[in-house]
Amino acid sequence: MGKSVVDKKIRVIGIFILLSILILLLAKPNLGYASSPQKEVLLLNLNNSFSILFLILIALVIILLININKRKKVEQRLLRQNEELTAIYEELTASEEELRQQFEEIVIHQEVIKQSKERYKLALEATKDTIWEWDLAQDQRSYSEKTLEMLGYKGEELLSYEDWRELVHPDDVEVVEENLRTHFEEKREIYVSEYRIRCHDGHYKWLSAKGKTLFDSSGKAYKMVGSHSDITELKEQQEKIKHLAYHDFLTGLPNRASFQEITEQEIQKAKMNETFFALLLIDVDNFKVVNDSLGHGIGDKLLVKISQSLASYEYADKLVAKLGGDEFVILLRNLKDKGTALRHAEKIMGLFHQPFILKTHNCYVSISTGIVFCPQDGENFEELLINADIAMYKAKELGKKRYVFFDRKMKDEFEEKERMQNSLCQAIARKEFILYYQPQVDLESGRIIGFEALIRWQNPDKGMIQPKSFISLAEESGLIVPLGDWVLKEACTFAKKLQDLGYPDKTIAVNISTVQLRQDDFVDKVSSILEETGLAPAKLELEITETVLIEFFDHHIHAKLNLLQAKGIGIVLDDFGRGYSSLNYIKQLSISTLKIDKSFIGDIDDQDDSANITGAIIILAHQLGLKVVAEGVEFPEQIEYLRNYHCDIIQGYIVSRPLPEEKILASLYLLLSEVVI
Ligand code: C2E
Ligand code: MG
Ligand code: MG
Repeated sequence: MGKSVVDKKIRVIGIFILLSILILLLAKPNLGYASSPQKEVLLLNLNNSFSILFLILIALVIILLININKRKKVEQRLLRQNEELTAIYEELTASEEELRQQFEEIVIHQEVIKQSKERYKLALEATKDTIWEWDLAQDQRSYSEKTLEMLGYKGEELLSYEDWRELVHPDDVEVVEENLRTHFEEKREIYVSEYRIRCHDGHYKWLSAKGKTLFDSSGKAYKMVGSHSDITELKEQQEKIKHLAYHDFLTGLPNRASFQEITEQEIQKAKMNETFFALLLIDVDNFKVVNDSLGHGIGDKLLVKISQSLASYEYADKLVAKLGGDEFVILLRNLKDKGTALRHAEKIMGLFHQPFILKTHNCYVSISTGIVFCPQDGENFEELLINADIAMYKAKELGKKRYVFFDRKMKDEFEEKERMQNSLCQAIARKEFILYYQPQVDLESGRIIGFEALIRWQNPDKGMIQPKSFISLAEESGLIVPLGDWVLKEACTFAKKLQDLGYPDKTIAVNISTVQLRQDDFVDKVSSILEETGLAPAKLELEITETVLIEFFDHHIHAKLNLLQAKGIGIVLDDFGRGYSSLNYIKQLSISTLKIDKSFIGDIDDQDDSANITGAIIILAHQLGLKVVAEGVEFPEQIEYLRNYHCDIIQGYIVSRPLPEEKILASLYLLLSEVVI
């Protein structure tokens, strides 16, 4: 810098010398025009002094100018530098502000991070989640303290993947491996896997593992980080729910849903001719009676005992399930032939030869079983079950306590029954029923003392249908209730008509189903019909079949019978001898009359033991204070026999077949006034 200033000064002085020479050269010609030498000398002197002065002056001016110029330049430079400095200063100030702001932001961020770390920690503690990390390149795994705490291991015990895999439940290893493989191969965003892991104490815990993987540029996984959650409780809940969904709540046996699933698999195998299996549909006979008479608590206990007994049946390849209510089902797999199935069925029925002991009760139970085979008896589960049901109902129809193998004829019968049931329903609306009346004769006087009302169905297509073809159908469908109401009213009206016609003593016996008797309003209904028709209660007799009454007998029915008897209505135990024939039981029933079944009467002429039994029954019934009616009397010898034993009343073809009302009314005098036997 100093050097350039010196250069500049030399240049300025140089310029100044050059300018002086120039001025001198310019001043010289003026000397040539001088007029005299003195003048010239003077002029020359004067000119010289002036020139020097002038030159000095100019030099000074130039120096001044140069200085001014120089100062200006310095000033400008300083100004510029000042401006630059100001700018730098401003910039610095600004960036300082920025830095300050950034610093503040960092502080805030740090605070946020700290808070979220704390929150994360809290969340982890609250959710019981634990953290794991897996360096795949080194095969080194590490776990948060909590993982180790949860499983009861030390970190160094679980260093490699192999260490971890060793602890996975043998049934879950495949799942774990498969999940990892697909995660790596498909580079899925998140790895998810649920499996059981063995804790240090030997117990297994369910873990839900979730993780994220880092892949290198070649797509190879090199790091995984994730969490473990203990989902043991959740899994147990799920298991419980699944168990509930697939098992019967009361007995713990597989339910219909699970039975269906398994059976469907078996059907597929059977269709491919791989196996042959039998399905046994079991219904507990008269279970309702147990429930009604001993209470639902005992009923439930009985079902549990039955389920235990069936489940204990010794055949390894079986499945016992409960379909609902009192219905069980057994699947017998891998059977050799039908003969083997038959032997199994016999043994299973045999399980019910012993009573089930329920606290103080010895409960004798029988079962009805329908048996189907797969593949021949059904293409699918529904069909198999329907056919087994048909066979089971057949077993009930044949008197319960037995097994029946399904056959195609049964299905046709069943379908016919269904058609009947539908037309029965329409028949009520179309009033296709009619009552026939069969006289009852007092053996002593030989006169008709009353009638039994017997229903008939006048079917437009099939003609006259007898009650045995539709009463049980009506009972099953509940149609017996409206039908029975109609019978009762019609019969009472008929009896009242006879009274009005001058035969006030004639009674009317009406058959009543236990389905009717079980209706809460039955007693009221009878009372109101009597009131409506104007028939005296003493002229009405209600006939209840022995077997049904005893099977369904409970304290409700007992109370109803008492009430009816108290009103003066006669209660007749019908078909005595066809069922239990227990006179001891009869003592407990509120009945007024015993009607001996026609099968006993039919045997009278054979002069064998049964004849004596009939006589003995009459004697015993009389001892119990009961009136005795003999039904199905067809021959004079039978009358003779019955007379000898002082049977009170007889009913049968020997007197008259059941007749329609108009026929009775047409020969009324003859029928009701004369001695008929
Ligand atoms: P039940 O009450 O024991 O009726 C007697 C059955 O024996 C009647 O059959 C009758 O026609 C028949 N019978 C009468 N005398 C003789 C005879 O000398 N020999 C033979 N072989 N049979 C004789 P029906 O009318 O076919 O009735 C059958 C069953 O249907 C009745 O047996 C009764 O249990 C039931 N029933 C009839 N009408 C009704 C009704 O209105 N309601 C209910 N719930 N059941 C009824
Ligand atoms: Mg009867
Ligand atoms: Mg009878």
